[in-house]
Amino acid sequence: MIVLGIESTAHTFGIGIIKTEANKTKILANVKDIYTTQKEGIIPAKVADHHVEVCDSVFQKSLEIAKIKKKDIDVIAFSQSPGLGHTLRIGAMFARTFAATLHKPLVGVNHCIAHLEIGRLLTKAKDPIMLYVSGANTQVIAYEAEKYRIFGETLDIGVGNCLDTFARLLGLGFPGGPKIEQLAKKSSKYIALPYVVKGMDVSFGGILTNIQTKFSSGEFSKEDLCYSVQETVFSMLVEVTERALAHTGKTKVLLAGGVACNKRLQQMVGVMCKERGATSYCPENQYLVDNGAMIAVLGKLMYDAGNELQIEKAIIEPYLRTDEVFVNWR
Ligand code: AMP
Ligand code: MG
Repeated sequence: MIVLGIESTAHTFGIGIIKTEANKTKILANVKDIYTTQKEGIIPAKVADHHVEVCDSVFQKSLEIAKIKKKDIDVIAFSQSPGLGHTLRIGAMFARTFAATLHKPLVGVNHCIAHLEIGRLLTKAKDPIMLYVSGANTQVIAYEAEKYRIFGETLDIGVGNCLDTFARLLGLGFPGGPKIEQLAKKSSKYIALPYVVKGMDVSFGGILTNIQTKFSSGEFSKEDLCYSVQETVFSMLVEVTERALAHTGKTKVLLAGGVACNKRLQQMVGVMCKERGATSYCPENQYLVDNGAMIAVLGKLMYDAGNELQIEKAIIEPYLRTDEVFVNWR
């Protein structure tokens, strides 16, 4: 079976094509075009325009790389939730049109869960605690009783959003996380910042204001601030992840989301796991950031479990949470 996955929750328009045979999954193509800026942040309407512009070329390229024809596709999956309404609509429209004209079944998937399912598939991590860290989302998740339960999460902005907003002040453009990582490597001087863990939850808004104020005062170098913000927010994430491990008795941690590309975060999670006899898993970068392959992977699991969506009901759900999805495929 060949499944097409369409990703359009935010900055990335991506198409993934997977082929499954006798319980083996092969990723045939994973093509994406990411909206980036030189200086400013992302404006939803502009990102939607970007997706409209690139969707056909991304699709054609994915067919070429996968060496298949349109008619070979058996199922179409698209990111239905959560995300920016402006951009989700582009992917949903693309998916509905395709499903209607080619008479193919349609599946709507939750983007956060797709990050986790592709991680489980590629790393073979068994029943992990998942630290999902992206631009808009920051959650510590574990599977329990037919739901992906959220053990801890951000109370305000996502950790990636915190890094991106600070990067914008530094004039680094979007996405800022990778640029902050490079600047942080040039320093080892820790400047004390607020450390905000509340129970199992984290909050980044106050830390962002604090580093913005510190930078604007001119008294601190950007390298030292980048180093310090990474050390602080990653320590907070490691702390709540460790607590989730302790609470559930699970012994694996799976990283997911774009911020998980950060080598310092990977290292800190690795050290914590080693110290408590657990194991950490991390798929390669192209599957950590938003991508179409993950939508195809979850689409296939959901299709097999009978979750086909009628075209008339294929409306976007920008606010659907990870723990609201009934998981009938595990
Ligand atoms: P996603 O929405 O999952 O594609 O993740 C995008 C987010 O990941 C953005 O906030 C990026 O700034 C962030 N990101 C990507 N690479 C890195 C990195 N190396 N270090 C920190 N954040 C990163
Ligand atoms: Mg994401």
